Amino acid sequence: MGEQKDVLTSTLSLEERVRRLVRPNLHVIKPYVPGRPIADVQREFGLHDVVKLASNENPLGPSPKALDAISDLLLELNRYPDGAAQDVRTAIAQHVHLQPEQVFVGNGSDEIIKMIAETFLQPGDEVIVPFPSFAQYNFGAQVMEAKIIPVPLTKHFQYDFLAMQNQITDKTKLIYVCSPNNPTGTWVTHTQVKEFLESIPDGVIVVLDEAYLEYVDTPDPLRSLEFVTEGKTVLSLRTFSKMYGLAGLRLGYALGDAGLIKYLHQVREPFNVNAVAQVGATAALQDTEHVIKCKVANHEGRLQYYEGLTQLGLEYIETQGNFLLAKVGNGVHVFQELERHGVIVRAGFPGLDEYIRISIGTEEENRRCLQALEQALKEM
Ligand SMILES: *Cc1c(COP(=O)(O)O)cnc(C)c1O
Repeated sequence: MGEQKDVLTSTLSLEERVRRLVRPNLHVIKPYVPGRPIADVQREFGLHDVVKLASNENPLGPSPKALDAISDLLLELNRYPDGAAQDVRTAIAQHVHLQPEQVFVGNGSDEIIKMIAETFLQPGDEVIVPFPSFAQYNFGAQVMEAKIIPVPLTKHFQYDFLAMQNQITDKTKLIYVCSPNNPTGTWVTHTQVKEFLESIPDGVIVVLDEAYLEYVDTPDPLRSLEFVTEGKTVLSLRTFSKMYGLAGLRLGYALGDAGLIKYLHQVREPFNVNAVAQVGATAALQDTEHVIKCKVANHEGRLQYYEGLTQLGLEYIETQGNFLLAKVGNGVHVFQELERHGVIVRAGFPGLDEYIRISIGTEEENRRCLQALEQALKEM
């Protein structure tokens, strides 16, 4: 009654009246802060030559095969895309040796993470997420009024599977495992995840986010598809945004049991993946040459940073992704100094005050980053 009276007497601003109309859970969601665009930094500091190593993008560009396929498609943009995304799902299925019904595509895996939340979470359900990890997991849970249960990584940013297991209750619906973990670059082994899955009860879905899968080069790598084939309630998330160099195109995919995937379609927009993305991704999958080239360059980039950071007397976290954490003292401060030198990295991750996250670029970009870091540390 009180609110109604306020509105009638117009004592409240429009902003306040709208604020009261919005679902309360949305007020706690902090907007996602993306890596700063190059043009922003050029403008602010009057710089020409700015290097962006902030969003784990592929420095070698999109797959050339994808670009050819896309340009052939442009004249057909008057047509709606195939809502079922049949061709690209079939191509992905062949690539991973599953059936097309076990493949679900989204407008980036970001969209799939939100759709997983929309499909399975009710208010009060619990979602176990590693911390620090990818912010999008929390976003999906918050939109659906689920409760986020963060489980800290260990001192060396390893997964603490026992601690995760101990947080499981009868309210637990989803558990996220991100490997290589963004933003730490650390990874899990197949044996660890296999044991973990054996310990969890029915009624829990484990999402294995493998956005950086194609960069992994370790013994006992996660083989998530074995769990899918065994009929476990597991979803593997992958993307064309990183290794395939198509972040701007927006195509991610989930792999899982067909009976599980079926329900994701219930919350899917009819044309959630655009026609350009479908064609580009299909072609990119065939571009093994580009993938190999990018993987080799990224491997060399890692070594370049390990050596360069060591020379600067800085600690770093060994990575299996296309990015790494460097321990620099005040992360946000160093980030700002680097920006003034024309290098955009990322800082301000919750729980990682002392670190910056650097995306691995070309050899030249990495050299510039290391030089800027040397100068920034001298000036501070
Ligand atoms: C980049 C990234 C994604 C993929 O995002 P898209 O929406 O497919 O661009 C998913 N998970 C993690 C951990 C990532 O770093």
